[in-house]
Amino acid sequence: MAGIYVHIPFCASRCNYCAFYSNANMSHDTQKAYADSVIEELTARRNEIYDTVSTIYFGGGTPSQLTTELLGKLLDTITHNYNIAPEPEITIECNPEDLSGQYLAALHSIGFNRLSMGVQTFDNSLLTLLHRRHDSLRAQQAVHDAQHAGFNNITIDLMYGLPEQTEELLRKDINTAISLPIKHLSAYCLTYEPYTALDTLRRQGSVIETDDDTLNNYYDILVDTLAKAGFEQYETSNFAIHGYHSRHNSAYWTGGQYLGVGAAAHSYDGQRTRRWNISDIKRYIQRDRWYDGEVLTDNELYDEMVMLSLRQICGINLKQMSERFGTHMTQQCLTKAQQYISAGKLLHEAECLRVSHEGMKILDMITATLMA
Ligand code: SF4
Repeated sequence: MAGIYVHIPFCASRCNYCAFYSNANMSHDTQKAYADSVIEELTARRNEIYDTVSTIYFGGGTPSQLTTELLGKLLDTITHNYNIAPEPEITIECNPEDLSGQYLAALHSIGFNRLSMGVQTFDNSLLTLLHRRHDSLRAQQAVHDAQHAGFNNITIDLMYGLPEQTEELLRKDINTAISLPIKHLSAYCLTYEPYTALDTLRRQGSVIETDDDTLNNYYDILVDTLAKAGFEQYETSNFAIHGYHSRHNSAYWTGGQYLGVGAAAHSYDGQRTRRWNISDIKRYIQRDRWYDGEVLTDNELYDEMVMLSLRQICGINLKQMSERFGTHMTQQCLTKAQQYISAGKLLHEAECLRVSHEGMKILDMITATLMA
């Protein structure tokens, strides 16, 4: 099964922690010209996908900055040019402030069946600090409105480790989230990305970075509270009611084939070729070329498998690792893993090597050790 990712690099304004490729305040004409280019790319590259497409994902940026007319044209292009599996997962990322009842109903009627909402926190002071445009009530109302419009599969993003976020505020955020009709939740620890406005504030001493002990405590609270509410953790940052794992992200993590279209989108052929589109809307619209690419070496493929598998609760499938890279690589991996297995940070169970709850707190270190 394959996936298609459509990147919509438009935002109403820039959040101060964000390093994604997007542009604020683009005119409707630019958005339309961009959508035309994406349609052309989807048509030109249709032969790159040889599997049935089971997931389609519109991400950004903020896809809900586009009209439903443009979004409908993009979806139609996909369904007309690709072999779509029965009951595909079709996700759109949205910001709460864009979501009127009418807009949500139109999104559902043109074919989206999964809604991903960028909430980050339900605390109004923290939302202001992050330069988000919605407030807590707007976000909660948008989730209810989405359900009312027919969305049964709603996911929200939360962040923890925000400056000035206390344990009490975090607990409030999680409890508010689980009181809503959502099936999935992604919770990311704030990272201070270089060159972002928030990172500048950190370097100036205007905001204080949360220390590791506090972050570990927050992670415990998050996993524990969500587990009690029936959300299975299936990846380090992702939690879902049973049966509602993100099929699209799971395809990324298991090395599946996906085509990414639009400025700055990435593609992978499911074998060893990775491609990335130009990160510039104007040049993308002028279409001097669609992408650059690289062919991954065995060591790079092995590292990718280690990195992506360890993030998942099911871990590394050692049988698959041996089939793909040989038993000597698997043995080498297990030898390097031994120190973490002895410390209880990695669990070796039959054909599986997976990170324990405590190990997730030092995931980067474990991953770096196990790489080729
Ligand atoms: S809305 Fe999302 S993509 Fe846009 S600036 Fe904010 S975090 Fe970044």
